Amino acid sequence: MSSATISTTRAAPPPTARPAAVGPVSAAELGATWRPECPVPPAELRLVEVDHLGFDGGMHRGQLVVHEDIVDDVIAIFADLTRLRYPIEKMRTVQNYPGAQDELSMRDNNTSAFNCRPLGDGWSWHAYGRAIDVNPLVNPYISSDGDLQPATASVYLDRTRDDVGMLRADSPAVRVFTDRGWRWGGAWRDPIDYQHFELP
Ligand SMILES: [Zn+2]
Repeated sequence: MSSATISTTRAAPPPTARPAAVGPVSAAELGATWRPECPVPPAELRLVEVDHLGFDGGMHRGQLVVHEDIVDDVIAIFADLTRLRYPIEKMRTVQNYPGAQDELSMRDNNTSAFNCRPLGDGWSWHAYGRAIDVNPLVNPYISSDGDLQPATASVYLDRTRDDVGMLRADSPAVRVFTDRGWRWGGAWRDPIDYQHFELP
């Protein structure tokens, strides 16, 4: 292949992301995602704004609430995802959905982090701001007893599909998290949680 051909088929340069912004978040701003019995207080959480590539190919400003201890990691992760041109459909905090219902956020393919959600007798890592769900409609949660989340995601249980944002074991976007020590739910056996990354 000639160099001229290569130059015309080369991918567009990575889009430029604006610097991230980090700020405090109050109980009022956390809305229904937080309540007094939650395991971390609002003072330990931060609102992080990062640019990300959208499904439309443009850059968008997204918001995540995460624990203060992992803010730098999260900023670096989303910068890497942008460099890799991994697209995220939307990134809004879950209090934008009625009752902060995770099901509604997932059906909307919304990427999110903090939400004070119980898990068994304890709390999900989302309740500590130490877990992120990425493009959750195309990357659903499924347990061996058939609990599918979101419930509208059955078509995406076929992991041979090639939908935008779909995460697989060999996806560079997965490596961005796991190379930093995050655990990926897509590697679990039961449940399998393709959307889920956590850093306990
Ligand atoms: Zn999750």
